[in-house]
Amino acid sequence: MTAEPTGAEPTGTETTGSKGTIRVVQLYPRDMNIYGDWGNALVLKRRIGWHGYTPELLEYNVGDEFPADVDIILGGGGQDSGQLVIQDDLHSRAGNLTELAEDGAPMLVICGLYQLFGRFFKTRTGSVIPGIGILDVETHGTDERLIGNVKVATAEFGEVLGYENHSGQTTLGSGVRPLGTVAKGTGNNSSDGHEGARFRNIVASYLHGSLLPKNPAIADFLIRTAAERKYGTFVPGTPDDHYAALAREHAARRPR
Ligand code: GLN
Repeated sequence: MTAEPTGAEPTGTETTGSKGTIRVVQLYPRDMNIYGDWGNALVLKRRIGWHGYTPELLEYNVGDEFPADVDIILGGGGQDSGQLVIQDDLHSRAGNLTELAEDGAPMLVICGLYQLFGRFFKTRTGSVIPGIGILDVETHGTDERLIGNVKVATAEFGEVLGYENHSGQTTLGSGVRPLGTVAKGTGNNSSDGHEGARFRNIVASYLHGSLLPKNPAIADFLIRTAAERKYGTFVPGTPDDHYAALAREHAARRPR
């Protein structure tokens, strides 16, 4: 989001404020924010405005007070060391997050937080980081790093594009369904061809890059779901998808 190809401002119509507020909370940006994951928050901020709502972007870090009236939760990836730093605080917030998930709040969790929304992550060196169990998945660290550009075929969002870099391999239980099937890259693990997980209104994925600038269908799913949950209806605006289309074209041409 920071480097727009021509330096021109996108031209989507912003009628900020007329339809209400949508509050986005990014979990642990201090410790869990790699390969551009913060860009997901910036995309939501811009697109919420384009859809005619007022965006509020909050950060939640270890030790903070958990914000009230959360409409969208975002979580990024991190090193195993970052996951160890946040684990206790995350467990102290498991109740808030589970309640929101059960109430249908939309969430996007990437890589390291995808793993910790699951049952556990056993790292490559044998430490077991317990997850908060919202997602029926488990992750085992391996000596193989899964790195590179990824293309995923999904029924809900069309072709999803992104970049993966993880040693953990995740297997899905029967309580979740995969986000999609990998067409290039590895995804959840090196054996079953699945990428990510879907449960209630949670989208979980290994893909960084960031994900949302080149996958606006997922951004709009989060915004639509948040608006419907809060206001009972979603009245879309007129987003400018020009830069998203360029980003998709570029990402689709990248070698593995
Ligand atoms: N540390 C985790 C792993 O290597 C998550 C990595 C990430 O978030 N990119 O599997």
